[in-house]
Amino acid sequence: MPATDRTIGIDLGLTHFAVLSDGTKIDSPRFLRRAEKKLKKTQKELSRKQKGSKNREKARLKVARAHAKVADARREFHHQLSTKLISENQGIAVEDLPVRGLARTRLAKSVHDAGWASFMNMLEYKAQRYGRTLIKIGRYEPTSQVCSTCGVKDGPKPLDVREWTCSACGTLHDRDTNAAINVKTAAGLAVSACGAPVRPGAIPAQREETGSHGFPTEPRAT
Ligand SMILES: [Zn+2]
Repeated sequence: MPATDRTIGIDLGLTHFAVLSDGTKIDSPRFLRRAEKKLKKTQKELSRKQKGSKNREKARLKVARAHAKVADARREFHHQLSTKLISENQGIAVEDLPVRGLARTRLAKSVHDAGWASFMNMLEYKAQRYGRTLIKIGRYEPTSQVCSTCGVKDGPKPLDVREWTCSACGTLHDRDTNAAINVKTAAGLAVSACGAPVRPGAIPAQREETGSHGFPTEPRAT
């Protein structure tokens, strides 16, 4: 894979599969949405069949097949996206999975449904294979509360707030894009403080065509 000095931050969204620090919003592709729709339909059909009947058994098999198709389509989508992100960027910053604490929230459910963990695994092994740097930042960073322009912590935002204006500098933020920029910035600060990506789970680059690890530090008010 050709060297590049591009870097990107990724935020996992509620309304999108992922949002990138350059403003790109990534949704499930049509082939995955179609498979999910088909699965729902077969599940509905199954619920209408009488227990113990032959038709119910048939419907049950249909559901199982539809489940497998959704899993395949999701894997395919994750492969396509992870390959694209790894090939286009030298450094990739992601938020770590909300494993504990958030387990019962809407975000945790959406993360689970989207198969974020398997997507992260793909990013991880592809980064290793192609000499890219993947940095995971902890969920303790309040990525949706901090203004990515001036660095002020603007306070918690309810999940339905998709846009907000920074009370300090007046910048209008898209919630998810701002969070993705903060993910990227947090990863960059972690690198510059120690000279190497040292966060748990961070994978150092294996080759150094660009001459440096990771991310340029972005301007931030103190
Ligand atoms: Zn601001």
